[in-house]
Amino acid sequence: MRTDSTVFIVGAGPIGMSLALLLDRLGIDSIVVERSPGITTHPKARDLNARTMELFRMWGLEEPIRA
Ligand SMILES: Cc1cc2nc3c(=O)[nH]c(=O)nc-3n(C[C@H](O)[C@H](O)[C@H](O)COP(=O)(O)OP(=O)(O)OC[C@H]3O[C@@H](n4cnc5c(N)ncnc54)[C@H](O)[C@@H]3O)c2cc1C
Repeated sequence: MRTDSTVFIVGAGPIGMSLALLLDRLGIDSIVVERSPGITTHPKARDLNARTMELFRMWGLEEPIRA
């Protein structure tokens, strides 16, 4: 695992993953660490509001999010 980076992000939830994505777009290197080995088996969202989908679309994530 890499240990050198400008930004160290703890947690690969929506906040951590969005932060890593946006930092990357700005050319800022980051490392994301997550304590869970996979995705959660307990759903933590049942819908996304329109603004959230606008952002996901801008970030090129609409298709995987819809899937
Ligand atoms: C039961 C439930 C239902 C919900 N329903 C909705 C909904 O319908 N719509 C909606 O918009 N929102 C919903 N939410 C809220 C939504 O899930 C949260 O707002 C969102 O997940 C917060 O994102 P986050 O990245 O801040 O935190 P989290 O999603 O909690 O992610 C934090 C991550 O950090 C990891 N982590 C924590 N500590 C460490 C550590 N020391 N080292 C490494 N990794 C660590 C955790 O494993 C986790 O993966 C719901 C939440 C719950 C609990």
